Amino acid sequence: MTVTVDVVSPPCATEPEVYHDEQLHAPPSRADLSSADWERLNVKRAAAHRQCAGCPMMVDCLYRAVVEVDVSGFVACTTEDDRAEIRRQLGIEIQQSSTTPYGTARVGSGPVSHDAVMAARQAYPKDTCHQLAERLDCSTSTVKRHLRRAREQKLVQGAAVTAAVRAPSVDAVLDCFDQLESSRVA
Ligand code: SF4
Repeated sequence: MTVTVDVVSPPCATEPEVYHDEQLHAPPSRADLSSADWERLNVKRAAAHRQCAGCPMMVDCLYRAVVEVDVSGFVACTTEDDRAEIRRQLGIEIQQSSTTPYGTARVGSGPVSHDAVMAARQAYPKDTCHQLAERLDCSTSTVKRHLRRAREQKLVQGAAVTAAVRAPSVDAVLDCFDQLESSRVA
């Protein structure tokens, strides 16, 4: 007897470029775009959002991206900032080596040093990652990677505070997700 398994690839597997579009996963502010570009971004975002919302892996994908692996990209209807906000609400942080293969590779000219990113953060503490990236002429993902590395170093230095934090439940993650503006996009 032949058993046929119907494997359906999620949209992010068939159109990865959409989910790694920096405008989706680290959106610029409204002031940075013309009305037409802003409209185009909203259409693009709503389309990706609808695809994730209809994906059978949505809940598992969201949970893993919030609790287990700090991936780059537009994932499970969320931007990187959305997922950071959920973690903040849940009081969790992902301890993940910055040398893991996850994350978007740097784009743009020449490498930006860790010290340069940290100096810019110190000089402009209220800037968004996107604004810092513009100042440094690098990608937002690069800025986020260096800021994440700084957070990890801080965690290692304060290793005494390693009390085990119980992983949040799926329901707790979904409750936080429901409060995001992103959850109402499509
Ligand atoms: S929910 Fe996750 S697995 Fe599904 S399309 Fe979105 S990013 Fe891909």
